[in-house]
Amino acid sequence: MGTQTGVLTRCESTQRLFQMVFEAQGPGVWSARRVLVPRNEPPQVGPSGPSAPPSPSQLAGQFLVAPDYPGCPYCRATSFWRCQACGNANCWAGASAVTCAWCQLAGFITGSIDHLNAAGVLLNAPQRPRVQSAPPARQLAPARRPPDRS
Ligand SMILES: [Zn+2]
Ligand SMILES: [Zn+2]
Repeated sequence: MGTQTGVLTRCESTQRLFQMVFEAQGPGVWSARRVLVPRNEPPQVGPSGPSAPPSPSQLAGQFLVAPDYPGCPYCRATSFWRCQACGNANCWAGASAVTCAWCQLAGFITGSIDHLNAAGVLLNAPQRPRVQSAPPARQLAPARRPPDRS
């Protein structure tokens, strides 16, 4: 049994709060094992709320989802992502376009989480997060050569 630590998370579909509990699997490897649901939701917290969420100590490393992770207690999403703007975690069912339940920022899933609570992003794959590189820019090949009149 490794060290466990909780990360406050919001359900992207219901905006409700829960806590993901990560267990240290090895040096710098954190695995989400279970969830805790608060009995009474604390008052709205967020950038515009009366009080900012308490700043937990930062977790750095690689973030995985354990095979027995039960998923979001509200919508059963089996993974999570982290907002670049506000730094908070949201549940994630795998959509590439997401909206942060904390600050309403809309964006696209990219990269992998290397820090919970800093300016990284996301966990991509349920088991092995991998960094996604941007797709190469598409080029439009002309269907026909323009008429070459001389
Ligand atoms: Zn959810
Ligand atoms: Zn956000």
